[in-house]
Amino acid sequence: MKEYINKLIELARIDKTIDDFGPKIEEVQAKLKRAESDKAAIEKEIAAIEEEVKECEVKKKKNELHLQELAEKLQELEKKSAQVKTEKELKAIQLEEDIAKEQINFANDEIARLENLCETKQEEIEALKERLKEAEEKLAAIRQEVQKELEAIEAERQEYFAKKDALIKEIPQQILAFYEKIRRWAGNTAVVPVRKQACMGCFMKINDKTYAGVIKGEEITTCPHCGRILYIEEEEQ
Ligand SMILES: [Zn+2]
Repeated sequence: MKEYINKLIELARIDKTIDDFGPKIEEVQAKLKRAESDKAAIEKEIAAIEEEVKECEVKKKKNELHLQELAEKLQELEKKSAQVKTEKELKAIQLEEDIAKEQINFANDEIARLENLCETKQEEIEALKERLKEAEEKLAAIRQEVQKELEAIEAERQEYFAKKDALIKEIPQQILAFYEKIRRWAGNTAVVPVRKQACMGCFMKINDKTYAGVIKGEEITTCPHCGRILYIEEEEQ
C-alpha cells in the first residue's frame, strides 16, 4: 500500500501543478489585455477630439456666413446713405453702420479664435496618432510574445497531463476513485502530510492510533477530523 500512497502523493502534486497553470495563463493573457486597452483608450481620445474639431469647424462656418451677411448689409447701408436727404436719416444709417462694423470685428475675432482652437485640436490629434502608432507596435510585439509564452505553457502542461495519465494507470481504480472523491471538496489539499502529529489539511492533532497507522503506511489513512488522506514526510520518519 505504501507504494500507492507514494503514487497518490505524486498524483496530488501533479494535479496541483496542472491547476497552477490556470493563473499563469491568466497572467500572460492579462498582459495582452492591458496593451489592448491602452490602444483602445488612445483611439477613444482621438475620436473625442475629432468630434470637437467638427464642432469647431461648424462654429467657424456659422461665423463666416454671418460675416458675409454683415458685409452685404454694410454695402446696402452705403447705398442708402448716398440717397438720404436729412441729417437725422444719415445719423440713423451711421449708427447702423457702426453696429454692423462692430459685429464684423467680433465675427472676425471669433473666426480667428476658432481657427486657433481647431488647429490646436488638430495638433493634439496628430500627437495622439503618434502615440497610437507606438501603442499598436507595442501591442503587436506583446501579442507575439504572449503567443510564444502560451505555447510554452501549453507544452509544459501537456507534459504534466502525460505524466498524470501514466501515473493513473499504475494506481488501482478503487484508490483513485477514493482520492477523486476527497479532491472534489478538498481540491489540491486532498493528500496532506502529518507534522507534529497534526493534519496539515485541517491543522488538528490526530490521535495516536491514527498517527501509528500513518507511520506504518499499510493502508490509506484519512484524517479523523477532515477526511483528507494523510502521509508522513520523509524527514518525519
Ligand atoms: Zn484533517
